Amino acid sequence: MRIYLDHNATTPMRPEVLEAMLPYLQGRFGNANSIHGWGREAKQALEQAREVVASALGAKDKDSIVFVSSGTEADNLALKGAAWAARDRGRHLVTSAVEHHAVINTCKSLEEQGFDVTPLPVDEEGLIDSETLRRSLRTDTTVISLMHANNETGVVSPIAEAAELARERGIVFHTDAVQTFGRVPIDVESLGVDLLSISGHKIYGPKGIGALYVRPGTRMVPHLHGGQQERGRRPGTENVAAAVGLARAAELCLASMPAETERLRTLRDRLEGAILSRIEGTRRNGHREQRLPNTSNISFRGADEESLILALDLEGIAVAAGAACTSGSLEPSHVLQAMGWKPESHGGALRFSLGSGTTQGDIERLIDLLPAVVERIRAAAAGHPEPALALA
Ligand code: PLP
Repeated sequence: MRIYLDHNATTPMRPEVLEAMLPYLQGRFGNANSIHGWGREAKQALEQAREVVASALGAKDKDSIVFVSSGTEADNLALKGAAWAARDRGRHLVTSAVEHHAVINTCKSLEEQGFDVTPLPVDEEGLIDSETLRRSLRTDTTVISLMHANNETGVVSPIAEAAELARERGIVFHTDAVQTFGRVPIDVESLGVDLLSISGHKIYGPKGIGALYVRPGTRMVPHLHGGQQERGRRPGTENVAAAVGLARAAELCLASMPAETERLRTLRDRLEGAILSRIEGTRRNGHREQRLPNTSNISFRGADEESLILALDLEGIAVAAGAACTSGSLEPSHVLQAMGWKPESHGGALRFSLGSGTTQGDIERLIDLLPAVVERIRAAAAGHPEPALALA
């Protein structure tokens, strides 16, 4: 039995999503920009998908949705688009130390092009202090980008307050909502954001599609050049099938959200409670309440994360160390480091992210297995032979 607990990295596509997409990969393959029947059919599907995504975000105008290739592209378009559009007013951006690399590295690239970026610190629980944000603002600040929920810890930031401050100062406010869209209710009006990024493959939709919400009136410059697709904001022949898939996935997530939130929170709390009480030297990383219902990040003193992940993988259980892309390179997590975590004293950290396929049986199996796995790795790290081998 294989157990997948890495839904913050990616999710399996729902059969209903594939079913909705298939016609647009086969018979209805037209280019949405063509004026003949095939084109009109594709265009109609694209616009319907836009309408669904807009409504899932509480956006009044469907044209505020720009389809792009990924959450990463949405973040790039938001930051570069807004920063360059406002360059005559100022060149200062504010962000946080715990953003996804799609934001951090976009900011680095803007710095190389003459922009100035202030990354705000977070506290031990992963939250930004609103006074620190207020003090970081300058007369030349044009863009603030703060993520809605962190992909490693699941910590959800109270961004509405920050967005209001931005609005008072005439600053464009962007949020990376890749981890929250489809998991917690999002309403761009009550959040008060100008730009918001989402991605298809985190919500049981296809990979290779994302969207950027752009509040009407927000000044943006495109960062790709070509045709007039997406009202000139993102040229390139539209991926109609993927847009249809994203919209269907969003509908399904919204419909199941209340029940699924409760179910996942109960399973997550059972797992977390059992680990913290049964395995010594463990601690939760991130705010206990202000968190996504599916995510738990726990560090294990005296055990490194690579060994933990590989040992669980041998048992058929998939978990992650921090973000998927950083775990590949096994760099210490910039998110946990910003929260004061130190690998030497706190040990390796694992991210457990549950999803629609996670069952009570999965969680119980992990709870049964984990103490012995951790014990073996700690013993090996301390230079002792594995207990199981020592007996043999
Ligand atoms: N932002 C956050 C918070 C994420 O978790 C991810 C994916 O891990 C991204 C952006 C990038 O999204 P995509 O994989 O669609 O490029």
